[in-house]
Amino acid sequence: TSFGYKQVREEEKSKLVGNVFSSVASSYDVMNDLMSAGLHRLWKDRLVSKLSPFPGMKHLDVAGGTGDVAFRVLDSIKSVSRRAVGGAISDIEEDTHIYVCDINPNMLNVGKKRASERGYNEEKCLSWIQGDAEALSFEDGSMDGYTIAFGIRNVTHIEKALAEAYRVLKRGGRFLCLELSHVDVPLFKQIYDVYSFSVIPAVGELVAGDRQSYQYLVESIRRFPNQENFAQMIQEAGFERVEYENLVGGVVAIHSGLKL
Ligand code: SAM
Repeated sequence: TSFGYKQVREEEKSKLVGNVFSSVASSYDVMNDLMSAGLHRLWKDRLVSKLSPFPGMKHLDVAGGTGDVAFRVLDSIKSVSRRAVGGAISDIEEDTHIYVCDINPNMLNVGKKRASERGYNEEKCLSWIQGDAEALSFEDGSMDGYTIAFGIRNVTHIEKALAEAYRVLKRGGRFLCLELSHVDVPLFKQIYDVYSFSVIPAVGELVAGDRQSYQYLVESIRRFPNQENFAQMIQEAGFERVEYENLVGGVVAIHSGLKL
């Protein structure tokens, strides 16, 4: 086919035999890689580096899907504490806890499976919790960090999700959001528009067999508040030192704020 994705599609198909959950997640992962040319991995790395995870931290990753962000946080904590204690697992590492919250139990099931494939199944420091970003089941002031990657755009009331993020964070806790945002670079904007309105729905149809969802994806990116307006909303939720970083000219942005 015109984009050369047919081969990927065939390979994917053979992988997809069996488990319905993993088939959903597989096409989801393939689409992420295709649409972002693999960049979503680097963006998530960047998100987690801004978090500066530390041993003993309590972290909540909302809309955490299949664990992409949570695994990075855990790996980062492990590398920090290995450096600190020369290879032994410190007591403090045992206090570390990362909660992955997602509204979709299928995504969480795939995440759990991945965790055990990666050898994380013994870890007591990872929990998978079904829940809504707008009404979290966690206690006030219980988290050192909160991340949401490519999730807040799907939430019905963004303000509620932000208020919940603020509520569950401790004083000094950090809020970080990675989201598809608005490109404001002339020429690149035109190219990006063609890419998102023509290429993404076509690839969605070809690879995931689902044009509509990817059409919706593009529209939801347009509807989402721009960088400045979203920063304003974060501030209105009570966060301080709110700032954002554009990646790839604003294709994605990382917003951050502190609960002080
Ligand atoms: N964070 C993952 C990543 O970056 O790969 C997954 C992103 S995926 C595009 C969006 C996720 O948000 C889905 O797993 C979906 O189930 C979840 N989601 C949508 N609405 C939600 C809500 N109100 N509360 C919690 N999770 C939600």
